[in-house]
Amino acid sequence: TSAFHPAEGRTRTTCGYCGVGCALDVVTRDGEVTAVLPARDGPVNRGHACVKGRFSHGFRTSPERLTRPLLRRDGVLEPAGWDEALAHVARGLRTAVDAGGPDSVAAISSARATNEENYLVQKFMRVVIGTNNVDNCSRLCHSPSAAGLTASFGLSGGTDTFDDVERADCLLVVGANPVEAHPVVGARLLRQVLRGARLVVADPRAVGLALHADVHLRPRPGTNVALFHGLAHVLLAEGLTDEEFLRERATGLPELTELLADYSPDRVADLTGVPAADLVAAARLYGGAGRPAIVYGLGVTEHLHGTDGVRSLSNLAVLRGAVGTDRGYGVNPLRGQNNVQGASDMGALPDLLPGYGKVTDAAVRSRAEDVWGVPVPARPGLRIPGMFAAARAGELRALWIVGEDVCATDPDTDQVARALDACPFVVCNELFLSETARHADVVLPAASWLEKDGTFVNFDRRFQRVRPAVPPPGQARTDFDILWAVAEAMGAGLGCPTPADALAECGRLAPVFAGLSHDRLDREGSVPWPCRSPHGPGEAKLYTERFATPDGRAHLAAAPYLPPGEQPDDDYPLVLVTGRRWAHYNSGSMTRRGGNLTLDPVDFLDLHSDDAGRYGLRDGQDVTVESRHGRARLVVRVGEQTAPGQVFCSFHFPASGVNRLTSDVADTVTSCPEYKVTAVRVAAS
Ligand code: SF4
Repeated sequence: TSAFHPAEGRTRTTCGYCGVGCALDVVTRDGEVTAVLPARDGPVNRGHACVKGRFSHGFRTSPERLTRPLLRRDGVLEPAGWDEALAHVARGLRTAVDAGGPDSVAAISSARATNEENYLVQKFMRVVIGTNNVDNCSRLCHSPSAAGLTASFGLSGGTDTFDDVERADCLLVVGANPVEAHPVVGARLLRQVLRGARLVVADPRAVGLALHADVHLRPRPGTNVALFHGLAHVLLAEGLTDEEFLRERATGLPELTELLADYSPDRVADLTGVPAADLVAAARLYGGAGRPAIVYGLGVTEHLHGTDGVRSLSNLAVLRGAVGTDRGYGVNPLRGQNNVQGASDMGALPDLLPGYGKVTDAAVRSRAEDVWGVPVPARPGLRIPGMFAAARAGELRALWIVGEDVCATDPDTDQVARALDACPFVVCNELFLSETARHADVVLPAASWLEKDGTFVNFDRRFQRVRPAVPPPGQARTDFDILWAVAEAMGAGLGCPTPADALAECGRLAPVFAGLSHDRLDREGSVPWPCRSPHGPGEAKLYTERFATPDGRAHLAAAPYLPPGEQPDDDYPLVLVTGRRWAHYNSGSMTRRGGNLTLDPVDFLDLHSDDAGRYGLRDGQDVTVESRHGRARLVVRVGEQTAPGQVFCSFHFPASGVNRLTSDVADTVTSCPEYKVTAVRVAAS
């Protein structure tokens, strides 16, 4: 600290924006953040950080920040004291349970919250309320990764440590725009390309990395499964498979081989729009590499058949023997939000307990019951879309939303708002009076990532510490404290008074986290899970001996390609794809309140110049975008990044109403929305 003013302090923490998990040093003076510096010894970022982590901390002192609880009285949200607010929440939840039983109450937890807070949310619902009605926002992004990777390999996480990318000689980057959405990872991928690795990008848009690609595949949105089968077809047809690996460590090859006979490059070209020659070239690059790597994003998961997409993509690594061996960097999802991996790891899921044990498994429940001292309900709870449907049907009497702006980020937001209005009692923990909080009966002012203690898990399964650099403003409290206080107000106890205690308790009921503790993370910086012993290093690279499936083998999937839920037609001739931009994070509630807004001040609708000519639109023009579900207003940006027939915008500016456009079409396995394919039309406003 000697280089700083004597009154300055520095706190090492983990970035609260994307899932890369950059280690940051937060510099404070007189109790306020003056700078955020990337940590040189950060295990993932190594001295780098992006515009979000470095500069987007102005939200902390925004005059719009919530500093007192709000209670709805006569239809209006008014300030109240904590005692009154806690008593009101306790009474509201108890009334719902008394009237409709425990399953008439639900909670939505958050990737923005720490592991310990997520652990407490699911414990609160299971122990205090007595229901499995708890879910988190991974439902809306990477739930198909959880389902797909578990089915293919056995565990719900990426297969390798990102450090191994630096030994890869071919990168297959699919449905991801890391240059903008995960900039530090984007830079590390690009550096590997500059060192000589070959690069295949599969994405409908000309994303940043595509400029450096040997081959850029541009499938029509919604045709991923056909594309991956086409690549697999070429691997098989040209003998680019690892036969010994397939014989010794995989299962399902005969069924897949039979299926792939229908996915010749010419047929796949018809289905996807990708020229057959490009498909063959990409397959040869991946199949001919010594150490190929697959990195993917939400362009794979957010589809009607997102889980099939993850599994079909995983097939490539299995066919090539590039997972669980030293001959490749497996299959690795880029997690969007800072702690979306951890929220699921901690069991904030309706069917899984901490560590991914099934609630339907009596032995798993018994382990949790031994630790918690109460019976755990055996029936899986509601997923987030099911919670909203239950609310609209009058079957949900109370909903607690911990730090998610579902009225901005979930699909078909008019339906979400109707669900909240139909639910008799809605509680929100929030930093700001978000779109969602406006529908709540009680709004509890919450602490941000700069103000709390705990841990996050990043995209390559690293636990890292989160430390408070500054106190929460006014009367705001951490979600951890709020959960504790509500449990107390209900006459119940949550049993682990500090975040360190919560992680330790989680390790007692989930063996994959048994070796983790705050003390250890304070000493070592980061530790990957699975980590079963306080003395073991954790498993950065998975499956080197056997896969975690019941038979110990990787499972090839033979799922046929099926079309997306919506297709363009004469009325709605364009396909809308939504995603992220470089300066903002999710609903933008933090990044829009500070300097980053000057970098990226409005949301644009990216439109190809051919379509601009066809529809008579010009750059900078205000337009109305309509889908079968709703209407949004945006500003056109004409260019070539988006393919003809497609448009793109972000979801960082809820006021534009982008998620009024998206549909409730969702992955058939996990209910993840199909954000990547919505048929729309565009007209001048
Ligand atoms: Fe790192 Fe992501 Fe934070 Fe940027 S937003 S500093 S890439 S963790």
